[in-house]
Amino acid sequence: MLIDTHCHLYHEDFNEDRQKVIERAANEQVAGFYLPAIDSTVIDAMLQMEKDFPGRCFAMMGLHPCSVKENYIDELQLAEQWLTKRKFAAIGETGLDFHWDKTFIPQQYEAFKKQIEWAKQYKIPVVIHSRQSTQECIDVIKEMKDENLNGIFHCFGGSVEEALQITALGFYMGIGGVITYKNSGLAAVIEKLPLDNIVLETDAPYLTPVPFRGKRNESAYLKYVVQKIAEVKKMRVEQVAEITTLNAQKLFSSI
Ligand SMILES: [Zn+2]
Ligand SMILES: [Zn+2]
Repeated sequence: MLIDTHCHLYHEDFNEDRQKVIERAANEQVAGFYLPAIDSTVIDAMLQMEKDFPGRCFAMMGLHPCSVKENYIDELQLAEQWLTKRKFAAIGETGLDFHWDKTFIPQQYEAFKKQIEWAKQYKIPVVIHSRQSTQECIDVIKEMKDENLNGIFHCFGGSVEEALQITALGFYMGIGGVITYKNSGLAAVIEKLPLDNIVLETDAPYLTPVPFRGKRNESAYLKYVVQKIAEVKKMRVEQVAEITTLNAQKLFSSI
């Protein structure tokens, strides 16, 4: 059994065949799907998926760093209101993104820290987007860590040294299709790490693994990620599946 800890299956790219996407994933042993929020524009579609696939799809609540714009205070307020209404699997995705627009970096920090406070308050994990900002996100977590705070550095793309800091904080790293990209360097990093702090994700519809790189990603392709990790770690596919699924279950046990 596998768990896709990060997939945007509510995305409009899946409007035509969402049911089939879930079925194909189920045929590949993917039993759980964790849906990160982006901003207010996706919440309805995300919650609808949870209704349509009860016990399989789990919604998070948060504001993506790339959605931290002029209206970010309103967006944060809306997310905060949702958190008072019902339980969510995690806060996210939140974090810092230095790849795209750098205009709102101070606001990205503000929004990130506020969302970490929510994770502490509701005792749920925080799912961190750290594009070109791994060390900066680690530093924020170090500053705000308490005995309850945990979460995932989703789409981890850092160094061994950064991975060890994340592990020391008790956090997990989400590994997806990027590990199958030859020049990503991620396979060499994972080779040097135990699987104790690793969970699987697709980030579908993005970051499609080889051999489908460039096409739409979907949760059934998690198997290519598992195969690659097994190859790199010289382990059996079943072992990789078992360890990473246990990690995900442990982390999301609050559900
Ligand atoms: Zn992300
Ligand atoms: Zn994402």
